[in-house]
Amino acid sequence: MHNMSRRSFLKGSSLLAGMGAISLVGCGGGATPAADGGSAQAAPDAAGTIMLVNEGKLTCISNMYFPPFEFMDEKTGEPKGFDIDLSRELAKHMGLEANWTKESNMGFDTLVPTISAVDYSDGTAKGKADIAIAGMTITDKRKQEVDMSDPYLDSNQSLVLRKDSEETLESLNAEGKKIAVQDGTTGEEWARENLPVADASKGIVKLDDIINAMNGLNSTTYDAVITDLPVAKYQIETEKNYADLKVAEGIPTGEQYGIAVSKSNPALLAAINKALKEMVEDGTMKQLQITWFGSEV
Ligand code: GLN
Repeated sequence: MHNMSRRSFLKGSSLLAGMGAISLVGCGGGATPAADGGSAQAAPDAAGTIMLVNEGKLTCISNMYFPPFEFMDEKTGEPKGFDIDLSRELAKHMGLEANWTKESNMGFDTLVPTISAVDYSDGTAKGKADIAIAGMTITDKRKQEVDMSDPYLDSNQSLVLRKDSEETLESLNAEGKKIAVQDGTTGEEWARENLPVADASKGIVKLDDIINAMNGLNSTTYDAVITDLPVAKYQIETEKNYADLKVAEGIPTGEQYGIAVSKSNPALLAAINKALKEMVEDGTMKQLQITWFGSEV
């Protein structure tokens, strides 16, 4: 009990300290109309007040090894990609500014726990970030820990092989085959469910990111990679980063990407869904798809 009251005392005093609370209310008020003077604004609605970890900013986290959704510009070290642009437009539609820093980049499997760990118990947001935007598939499992926004892009899995390989999804489900996946992803889940023989013989290898997986396939450490189709296509077919790899086949999983938001911040979720809808209607979403995929997807 002593601890609890001390905790609430500390929270109370930080509220009194002012800046945090006042600035956060300011954001929540968000009555600032969007630059275009349109209806887009982060005004509180039935869902309550929007709480943000940094005043006036939509602070984002992601895993920066997932091109073209998020990656680092080689020269500047700045984050770029479809999701980065999406976050900036989203923030703009909400009267905010997207906030990406060096701390925004983290392991994919830590994104959901980081969002769900933000503390909103005293009506302010204390934590690392407001949203995770990371080509993240909306799944029931994730929805137990965080809220997911409405879907913003359809996706599927894919099988990536070396060009000279004749492996198939059938032949890969065997002892001794090594299949690289990214830790904590739907690709990992698909591989475990559908390649049980390879899985039982420890053939499904979890890596931090998909670039490592593709590099390892290229150097023959692995026999295959299972990853999101748009990423495989971008790396191999659009950017031609791996002359010796091919996207052997798409795996129709019917996934949809969404943005992870804390369950304790329903006003933020509502504002994001509203902004996403506006971005479809005003053509922003179409423009982002053309920028990063060459056409609408
Ligand atoms: N869409 C996949 C998932 O949600 C992979 C995402 C990623 O690796 N960034 O698990």
